[in-house]
Amino acid sequence: DVRVRFSPSPTGTPHVGLIRTALFNWAFARHHGGTLVFRIEDTDASRDSEESYRQLIDALSWLKLDWDEGVEVGGPHAPYRQSERFEIHRGVLDTLLEKGLIYESFSTAEEIDARNEANGRPKQQGYDNFDRDLTDEQKAAFRAEGREPALRLKVPDEDITYDDVIRGEVTFPAGSFPDFVIVRPNGVPLYTFVNPVDDALMGITHVLRGEDLMPSTARQIVLYRALIEAGVTTFIPRFGHMPLVLGDGNKKLSKRDPRADLFLQRDKGFVHEGLLNYLALLGWSIGPDRDVFTLDELIAAFEIENVNPNPARFDQKKAESINGDHIRMLEPADFAARLIPYLRQAGIVASEVTAEEHVLLAKAAPLVQERLQLLGDAPGLMGFLFTDDISYEEDALKGLKGDPKAVLEASVDALEALPADRFNTEAIQDALSAALIDGLGLKPRVAYGAPRVAISGRRVSPPLFESMEILGKERTISRLRALA
Ligand code: GLU
Repeated sequence: DVRVRFSPSPTGTPHVGLIRTALFNWAFARHHGGTLVFRIEDTDASRDSEESYRQLIDALSWLKLDWDEGVEVGGPHAPYRQSERFEIHRGVLDTLLEKGLIYESFSTAEEIDARNEANGRPKQQGYDNFDRDLTDEQKAAFRAEGREPALRLKVPDEDITYDDVIRGEVTFPAGSFPDFVIVRPNGVPLYTFVNPVDDALMGITHVLRGEDLMPSTARQIVLYRALIEAGVTTFIPRFGHMPLVLGDGNKKLSKRDPRADLFLQRDKGFVHEGLLNYLALLGWSIGPDRDVFTLDELIAAFEIENVNPNPARFDQKKAESINGDHIRMLEPADFAARLIPYLRQAGIVASEVTAEEHVLLAKAAPLVQERLQLLGDAPGLMGFLFTDDISYEEDALKGLKGDPKAVLEASVDALEALPADRFNTEAIQDALSAALIDGLGLKPRVAYGAPRVAISGRRVSPPLFESMEILGKERTISRLRALA
């Protein structure tokens, strides 16, 4: 059975690269009918925060990336916050010590450097495995000096090879690293230890994570071998390292780049389906010449072996265009409902949306659904339908060709003649076309420019006649008059 995990540290605000990792683990689990574990690696009290934790929960909930075991939902391997697993880690350390697979190390950095120098090794060579065979007397003597030991894992002198599910065979030659610290002298266990131990205890079968963590894999495999020998687990998981997400130049997308900020992207108006679709393309593809797919299609097609190991660039324009495609795929009522937070934020609807606002929204939403890439653009595009207090785009009227005043006057006359109960799209179009195109001899592009600005305040707006119908006769005419 496939068991994967998403195991972020709660620092900072959620980054799109981190979410791509969560998405691939989720898609892999769902594709195989497996289990996704959500574990929080909060062992660095100086960097971790409860606020970041809440943001991670908020992020995954918004994205509808659900998990089967973990924080908030519990499960057979609880607790799922690493900070609450101290006793469990202690127990594993005791077992490894007992079996002689790890050992106490008293050497200080200065002593290690000095020994390297004395032995003709480069000073920066690193640890020389000096403490591997200390006697009980030697250890007692160090303790008597007031020293506390670090704990180091014994690293066998052999090549370490593993088969990365994304990159194929990877080999770390023997001697790449010495016996390394897994617990600091102050008792704090390191990531290289707790992360694989928790994966082992939680039965994780596939560790799918970012390329930046690849260097720790060899050490973690050595640790796994020790865990197997000690009877803590029975197998080493498969590892797969996803490509880096690049920003500008050939650099990793920085945490401070606004594109990296998941909540900023949400505020701009991504729908979760659109953002997840785009994030899936950062390293994966559903097929040639195809960029847009649903989450169900992603799950059905997602093979981890097809993830491309090469770095992927975050392209905001493409992301927004894919988002637009997903906006168009929404049911109209669903689309209208998703606009509400953005309209509310812009002060266009009341915080408790009124019944009339709901009716208006249901009529107005279809006019913008075809042309939006981001929900956050909706207030600017449709606000004029909700309020008479419209703001005119700077120079919108000045830039118009012909004689806007004459056009507006002719429009008023034509629309005045329509009965209020027949003030519908078709009748409006017939009346204006007769007056402006036949009557004044204007081309459509010129004819409707001035009425559009008068109605919406902008040169580009949702369809004009439909908008006029929604506004009704009285409000339409008074806006045309106001500028005539
Ligand atoms: N907590 C680690 C991180 O956020 C997890 C690394 C891993 O997936 O192994 O970097």
